[in-house]
Amino acid sequence: MNTKIIFLDIDGVLNAPNYWRFWWWNLLNRMGFKTELADDTSIERRFVRRLNWIVRRANAHIVISSAWRHRFPDWMQWLHLFTSMGFPAVGNAVIGTTVSHAPSVKRGAEIQGWLDRPEKRPECRRIPEPISAYVILDDDSDMTPQQKSGHFVQTNPYKGLTRKDCRRALKILRRNEA
Ligand SMILES: [Mg+2]
Repeated sequence: MNTKIIFLDIDGVLNAPNYWRFWWWNLLNRMGFKTELADDTSIERRFVRRLNWIVRRANAHIVISSAWRHRFPDWMQWLHLFTSMGFPAVGNAVIGTTVSHAPSVKRGAEIQGWLDRPEKRPECRRIPEPISAYVILDDDSDMTPQQKSGHFVQTNPYKGLTRKDCRRALKILRRNEA
């Protein structure tokens, strides 16, 4: 069985608001308007469409490794969210989230914990074991050296998930296939 996992970050992957938001904020402040830097990021369809491309081609499952898992801890919520955006294949691919540790624990370590301890995957939908391939999509780089050498596609937070990122992710997920 070829079980493949995408560990999915959200901010900087499925949205890319930082650049223009910061640009406006900077301009307004230089003009003398003291404004707060709003944090109203949301998931953008154009990036979910790209994720859909990977999911369908690789037949991959998704584990949410983003801090968004605190807002939406249940895979059913992700199923509804992506399905309501018009991407039921992406919604159906979500099996759960990584386990929350203390804030000091790096994301790469949380992901490794999920991979290493199948018994500690609360609320996750069952998947056929073993996992044959995985890829981490994230704009931050706090992954383990092992993850960085061949399981990691780092997105540019100003650009979000690009087509090039998608091709790299698919290649990683298909690496061990005949
Ligand atoms: Mg991020």
